Amino acid sequence: MIDEMYIRGVQVNYYFVCKTKLWLFSHNVGMENESDAVKLGKLIHRSVFDRDEKEIRIGPIAIDAVRKGDVVEIREVKKSRAFEKASYYQLLYYLYYLSKLGIRAVGKLSYPKQRKNVEVILDESSAREMESVLDDIPRVVNGEMPRPVYKKHCRKCAYFEFCFT
Ligand code: SF4
Repeated sequence: MIDEMYIRGVQVNYYFVCKTKLWLFSHNVGMENESDAVKLGKLIHRSVFDRDEKEIRIGPIAIDAVRKGDVVEIREVKKSRAFEKASYYQLLYYLYYLSKLGIRAVGKLSYPKQRKNVEVILDESSAREMESVLDDIPRVVNGEMPRPVYKKHCRKCAYFEFCFT
């Protein structure tokens, strides 16, 4: 079993992208680091945050945070809006996690290429949604590997060969 507070942000993200991916990643099938898409994401990330970046590591999460008065703003930089729902919940999870530690935070999803920012706010209703996702992630991870279902984005996935060859 994985405890709610030991779920990593990327697992929340994969829950929305692909349950197979979530399962593989959670069982340490570690091809994700080799993906060019991941490398590109890191490059964009560095070029945007090299001046005011403050990476905070708390338990299983690592976030980029900037203090604004008594509120912390956390950011996720994404190269495209293709997985916006997954990115939204990943950031919402960080807000939820921080709220459990008594830290008030707001979130911002940044899409530098599109010059677009999306605010993410944790309120009662989004916290309830988050809790139901966090309840369901261990069910997926602790079950049988979900059967891979081919989608357009599979070709860019680090697990493509594992799933389809
Ligand atoms: S290749 Fe497709 S089905 Fe397999 S893990 Fe990646 S996204 Fe999921």
